Amino acid sequence: MAVTRTFSIIKPDATRRNLTGAVTKKLEDAGLRVVASKRIQMTREQAEGFYAVHKERPFFGELVDFMVSGPVVVQVLEGEDAVKRNRDVMGATNPADAEEGTIRKEFAESIEANSVHGSDSEENAATEIAFFFDDSEIVG
Ligand code: ATP
Ligand code: MG
Repeated sequence: MAVTRTFSIIKPDATRRNLTGAVTKKLEDAGLRVVASKRIQMTREQAEGFYAVHKERPFFGELVDFMVSGPVVVQVLEGEDAVKRNRDVMGATNPADAEEGTIRKEFAESIEANSVHGSDSEENAATEIAFFFDDSEIVG
């Protein structure tokens, strides 16, 4: 299976509880390698742009408020079938539905404050990586 890349965000609920390392360990244990990482305070414009696909959803305003409520860690992850591998270890969007051993089952506070984002396709991964990283910042 091909080695590919995906994009991950450790969300403000996780950075606030000092879970950056614990979440990253789950990603690494799942066979993903962090090839780029930075801790940033997202601007409202970045959060609105990043989640633009959800702008008609009723929770959009609250989602943007949440994503700018504290620092996040944006990461590029590399591994075999990285998009699916990451989605599998993240678990379901709603932690109540997430399987044992997943990041969201273990750490998420709610369907909104669910600790991590992960790209849902290789095409979106490429777009999301380019949204936050220059090529020179990605080192395998
Ligand atoms: P992400 O895109 O963050 O990886 P996801 O793909 O599992 O998560 P999406 O449907 O893309 O889920 O929703 C994006 C984010 O919006 C969710 O991770 C969550 O933070 C928030 N969200 C989704 N559904 C709801 C909801 N019903 N109420 C509040 N927030 C929600
Ligand atoms: Mg999504």
